[in-house]
Amino acid sequence: MHLFVATTNPGKLRDFAHAAASFLNVFIDPLPNLGDIPAPDENADTFAGNATLKAIVYSLASPGKLILADDSGLEVDALRGAPGVRSARYADDKGFSTNRPLPTDQRNNLCLLDALASTREEDRTARYHCVLALARDGAILATADGTVEGEILAVPRGSGGFGYDPLFLLPDEGLTMAEVNLETRLRLSHRGRALVDLLNKLEP
Ligand code: IMP
Repeated sequence: MHLFVATTNPGKLRDFAHAAASFLNVFIDPLPNLGDIPAPDENADTFAGNATLKAIVYSLASPGKLILADDSGLEVDALRGAPGVRSARYADDKGFSTNRPLPTDQRNNLCLLDALASTREEDRTARYHCVLALARDGAILATADGTVEGEILAVPRGSGGFGYDPLFLLPDEGLTMAEVNLETRLRLSHRGRALVDLLNKLEP
């Protein structure tokens, strides 16, 4: 089975390739002509909505191919699941400004710390959540979920990863997602877990 992933993000491709490695006869590649296909607006209010929208659009443009599309983000319990589907756009959505221009990830992290300023340590539980959708010729064949549980720190730690990783503590590791080594990151990946869930659903 040959799956084409609708992403050019090397970190996502690495997560998927690692998760698929134990499935014989599953081959994963980036969708080669992704840049030529007009990207849909990811404006659904759930991860599943955005993942299925992307899978449908890219599979209609790639006749006969199995297309894997994802959406993911951070869900913080004390914020009733926010930033969720708006994870990449959180600071912009909230009109969060800083006194000097900062990269988007840093602004989002500061915005999250601001939103949680009065939340106690024990109430700062959160998870990364990924939803995958697999489609062929515009028809959804399967969807799947993967999560990794954590807690939001009050002070960022570590320089690896991206997004909210410096604030995302993995309690069992005692490290943030920005501090763990590659082996741990791959083992815990919400994207990898979602792909294993999806491939298990497809197995006869
Ligand atoms: P995407 O739509 O799956 O690319 O992810 C949307 C946003 O969710 C990213 O811009 C990040 O802010 C956040 N996010 C998703 N996965 C991760 C992760 O593994 N680490 C850190 N942030 C993540």
